[in-house]
Amino acid sequence: PTTTPDALRSAALDLLKRVWGYGAFRGVQAQIVETVARGGNALVLMPTGGGKSLCYQVPSLLRPGVGIIVSPLIALMKDQVDTLRGLGVRAAYLNSSLSLDGVREVEAALLAGDLDLLYVAPERLLLPRTLDLLDRAPVALFAVDEAHCVSQWGHDFRPEYQGLSVLPDRFPQVPRLALTATADDRTRADILRVLDLGAAPQFVSSFDRPNIQYRVGQKDSPKTQLLEFIRAEHAGDAGIVYCLSRKSVEETARWLQAQGVDAVAYHAGLPPRERTHAQDRFLNEEGLVVVATVAFGMGIDKPNVRFVAHLDLPKSMEGYYQETGRAGRDGLPSTAWMVYGLADVVNVRRMLASSDAPEEVKRVEAGKLDALLTFCETAACRREVLLAYFGEEYHGPCGNCDTCLNPPQVRDMTREAQMALSAAIRTGNRFGAAHLTDVLLGRATEKVVSMNHHTLPTFGVGTTHDEKTWRGVLRQLVSLGFLAAGEHHGLSATGKARTLLKGETTLTLRADTLVPRAAGRKADR
Ligand code: ADP
Ligand code: ZN
Repeated sequence: PTTTPDALRSAALDLLKRVWGYGAFRGVQAQIVETVARGGNALVLMPTGGGKSLCYQVPSLLRPGVGIIVSPLIALMKDQVDTLRGLGVRAAYLNSSLSLDGVREVEAALLAGDLDLLYVAPERLLLPRTLDLLDRAPVALFAVDEAHCVSQWGHDFRPEYQGLSVLPDRFPQVPRLALTATADDRTRADILRVLDLGAAPQFVSSFDRPNIQYRVGQKDSPKTQLLEFIRAEHAGDAGIVYCLSRKSVEETARWLQAQGVDAVAYHAGLPPRERTHAQDRFLNEEGLVVVATVAFGMGIDKPNVRFVAHLDLPKSMEGYYQETGRAGRDGLPSTAWMVYGLADVVNVRRMLASSDAPEEVKRVEAGKLDALLTFCETAACRREVLLAYFGEEYHGPCGNCDTCLNPPQVRDMTREAQMALSAAIRTGNRFGAAHLTDVLLGRATEKVVSMNHHTLPTFGVGTTHDEKTWRGVLRQLVSLGFLAAGEHHGLSATGKARTLLKGETTLTLRADTLVPRAAGRKADR
């Protein structure tokens, strides 16, 4: 506290060089380190890979006492601690993986002042035994990593995190630092409330990852599309392929292997040994592709992941950002590649609608999904839409996303939208996209005839467009909320559709399936 700002700054920099071998702090790191080293609280919002760890590690070493790091990622504590010990830092962890003897050893070291950093799982920290211990040990700071876990609005809600409100109550003198890579306004408010950080400075770094090229395409034959993408742009590179279900993870991994791609499956249903093995291989080998559910990746720090591919839609914009953010941490060009189709949109919408979550939570989740779908359907710069979601003003074109590199055609499609909506309404708001397409194209299928839909005025009004176009129109109408997906994938017109039907609003849609592909660009297959 008596050190001058200059002295503190140079002490921090010395430490950074001596222990980590780095020449300088990145971006706001220096300010955060200074704030906390002086005993102040802070909220840190930094994208994955931005360098959050140093923000608490350095002040922990600068201040007397031990830095307590609350982390939900038990599986990774050992790695982090091993790395720190390798650097000569006196680090340890307390979690359920330790034996009783192991716990006693760490506790003794803590009381003896033999630790610089202690990683603790939240449920362990909240035990009366641990809190009593901390009363008796000198504590340099509390760092709450993955702080968004306090919020039930997020996808990683952990009830134990709410118990962390004990920190400001019981240890008001100890600086608190909350760190996260995901925080919309609500989540941020929850973090501030639980950790009582209302008065603390907030350090927000840009979420832009300029070296990641964002691409979103229409799903047709996803596995083949993926293989072509890998072969054309990322042969021999390390990458992650995300799928929604365990079954599709295994199928896709097997299929890639059969096509000569070095691939391995990863999901929570595999035996722990197999999962660890896959993770170790991914970290240590150069060109492995991991096909995984979202269970894979939290906390994985592999700098040279060259691509992240999504064969299924993530559930939210945060999810998308976090998952794609695992690409290119080394700053070199990388690709975030995704394909999706009408069925995916219908699926995720239905999954959300049928969950048992409270209505309010469902509404928030639906909003997050809407944001993602808007991002998917946009004809504007993807980076601009993505960053706008995180509250950042960015003006494209970025020149490094599919819409910038290959601007899609947009057209007034009000007329087509009206046709599709009226097909849904006149058939009773309960048929799926395939049937509606048959009606629009005037196909007198058995089902159409048996329902008498060939006598509707809408029958055959859409013959000027092909099937693919209608699928695209229907997908966009569902994505944009003009059609809702109900039971058995039936599509029904929503309240929002009314103004469109009355001609009070117009609708501009991506017309990428209406026009011939630009020369030189491979046709979507
Ligand atoms: P986050 O926790 O925000 O995802 P990390 O703290 O794991 O990010 O840091 C990501 C990577 O960046 C790590 O490999 C780390 O060593 C590196 N890094 C962080 N800060 C610096 C810095 N000032 N100079 C050089 N490398 C850094
Ligand atoms: Zn762009």
